[in-house]
Amino acid sequence: MRREKETYSAYIKNKNYLKETRTLGATEFIFNLFKTTTYNYYDLKLLYQKKLNKIEAISKLINIIGYMSILGLSIYLIIDNKITVGAFAAVYASISNLFGLFEEIFEYRLHDVVEIFVKVKKYINFLNFEENSNGGKNIIDEITNIELKNVYFTYPSGKAAIKNVNLKIKKGDRIAIIGKNGAGKTTLSKLILGLYKPEKGEIYYNGIASSLLSSETIIKKGTAVFQNFNKYKITLRENIAISNMKDENNEEKIKNTLNYIGINYNDKKFINSINTILSKEFEGIELSGGQWQKVAIGRGIFKDYDIIILDEPTASLDPIAENELYEKFEEISREKIAIIITHRLASIKYCNKIAIMDNGKIIDIGTHEELINRSEYYRNLWYAQAELYINDSKNKIPS
Ligand code: ADP
Repeated sequence: MRREKETYSAYIKNKNYLKETRTLGATEFIFNLFKTTTYNYYDLKLLYQKKLNKIEAISKLINIIGYMSILGLSIYLIIDNKITVGAFAAVYASISNLFGLFEEIFEYRLHDVVEIFVKVKKYINFLNFEENSNGGKNIIDEITNIELKNVYFTYPSGKAAIKNVNLKIKKGDRIAIIGKNGAGKTTLSKLILGLYKPEKGEIYYNGIASSLLSSETIIKKGTAVFQNFNKYKITLRENIAISNMKDENNEEKIKNTLNYIGINYNDKKFINSINTILSKEFEGIELSGGQWQKVAIGRGIFKDYDIIILDEPTASLDPIAENELYEKFEEISREKIAIIITHRLASIKYCNKIAIMDNGKIIDIGTHEELINRSEYYRNLWYAQAELYINDSKNKIPS
């Protein structure tokens, strides 16, 4: 609840969110969310404090009863002439010290120790979480073919995202996956990359079931440029090398990658060339959306990979940069297994196969020519986009 309260507070106070929240006129809505969570949070805190006070009051009462009993017993012993007044004073003083000491130990120190102990235990449990390993030991030097057999995948939320998918891909293939939002394209790519495990069915790499392979094998061999890539607030060099840290100091390779994707690190904007931090917050610079996307592509291809997945890699690029990337796609994917998730059909001419996904299934797969003839969905998509891009569509669209 505290985190929720802080998040809503950030939406109306933090500079990264403020601009959009205000422009959208959403300040009041968010403020109400913030107010409700704040009330709930402090209500809960009050309840907790009340409980704590009750426990403390009971423990104090027990303390007083004990104290009074000892005092009563000592007075009784004096009256009965069993102890002297001097002995009574000595007992009284030490009892009083002892109670003070116990109070200190139980109420404050022990309370702290228990609280810290619980936190540390939770933390250790978290660190000891088993890595989701496939359990297998086999390692493949180069992945040259992948086969998905009757693969299903459901998210913990209960959403069945992939339903009975069968697909064969081999080295040199360039497959485009198209389909509506939520069809399961990204989930499928994550399964292929070994980031998720199939719930049912199996994925075979070079004919070996993924459950028999060490999980690092697949993850080491795959690379991806995801739509919602990270904007790491570290140097340009690190932002590229992060996918392959053993080459962090290979300046030539980093510069070649930057030149390839069209980031001009010699521009005076990059105050420390490739060592410029990509965040004003840390005395660096801010990149534009398009430049960030290029960095994300750069870090994707900096890795030594057998499988490359590009998930809407051109969403933030201008049309010229988009075209340049597509032209490089052939090179990036040469002798690899390449999958491009896209809704821009312009990229499809670089692919030898197109898979259409709908509602977690591959509903058709084929070449452009095959699909344009037999798939109404594909035909509609193609002509809708062709009209958007090309005026003289009759002459430009491949038959
Ligand atoms: P696409 O890439 O085709 O847009 P996705 O693979 O992202 O589709 O999503 C497929 C379905 O799974 C959607 O209904 C989506 O809402 C759901 N989904 C995606 N990611 C998650 C997640 N992390 N948790 C729960 N459901 C998810």
